[in-house]
Amino acid sequence: MKAMVLRKTVSLAENKSPLEPADLSVPVPQEKEILIKVSVCGVCHTELDEIEGRTPPSKFPVIPGHQIVGRVEGPGKNANRFKIGDRVGIAWIHSACGKCKYCRNGLENLCNEFKATGRDADGGYAEYTTVPEEYAYKIPDIFSDAEAAPLLCAGAIGFRSLRLANLKDGDNLGLTGFGASAHLVLKIVQHQYPNTKTFVFSRTESERTFAKNLGAVWAGGTEEETPAKLHAIIDTTPAWGPVVESLKNLEPGGRLVINAIRKEEADKDALLKLDYSGDLWMEKEIKSVANITRRDVEEFLRMAAEIPIRPEVQEYRLEEANKALIELKERKIRGAKVLRIGPFS
Ligand SMILES: [Zn+2]
Ligand SMILES: [Zn+2]
Repeated sequence: MKAMVLRKTVSLAENKSPLEPADLSVPVPQEKEILIKVSVCGVCHTELDEIEGRTPPSKFPVIPGHQIVGRVEGPGKNANRFKIGDRVGIAWIHSACGKCKYCRNGLENLCNEFKATGRDADGGYAEYTTVPEEYAYKIPDIFSDAEAAPLLCAGAIGFRSLRLANLKDGDNLGLTGFGASAHLVLKIVQHQYPNTKTFVFSRTESERTFAKNLGAVWAGGTEEETPAKLHAIIDTTPAWGPVVESLKNLEPGGRLVINAIRKEEADKDALLKLDYSGDLWMEKEIKSVANITRRDVEEFLRMAAEIPIRPEVQEYRLEEANKALIELKERKIRGAKVLRIGPFS
């Protein structure tokens, strides 16, 4: 089968083609796994973190990609949850131990044996992939394959961030950065918390305009003061500046949720500007979001179909994976990027 593989971590500033085309044998599904013929695979910022070593793969070579939509091609031994031909999705969570205290309490995202799709197990930048059947999701009929792919990561993790933001309807919410995940969060908020006002911090005028067009009541720079205090802020930027600068806008007891698997080191100095009395005092909190659970993916897909959320997507061929990654890094084009691999739609 055709695949794009990562053989070692590299700097994208020096190497614009980090993935290599490869011709590999089709993987064999193990017990309780299913083999999937991949239709599309989303391209995510986390792939950049894997390639540049901020969250390095645990095996090389590895096939990246964790927003996979495809059809069940064949079950492994004792796998009976899906039929051949069923359309399924795979998300960032590839598997977890199933036994530890986190797994037993629906927090498999925190499991010590958490395996990530496309980092610790081969992912979807390939014609076929395998996954434990318990970690595959039925995709609601309303979505095309390409529309469903970004929902599996940006959407589901946005949904989890919002869950952790502890919002009630009518509470003000801030979003720092307005990329794939944040713009899906705004759509969920409008559905789940219709009286909540959303304030968007962004560096670029085009993102601010986009946010206001989608219904944000205010959009400005992170250094600016919002016209009202915020109950929660969800940070989706790769930087530290927006975290420190936006904290002053939180109300007492408010919470800032960082939705990023790793922060880049470039502006770490910004942390020295943290002002305890203005930024953290009065029981303000900072919390990270780690991975996702199966429940997040399932509930989010259901809600996305109900709203419905239809992500803007731009398609690339599998062979163009490097181009898609570089364009993502350079933030060239708005909307989600997906690789078109199979013939389905
Ligand atoms: Zn992702
Ligand atoms: Zn576990």
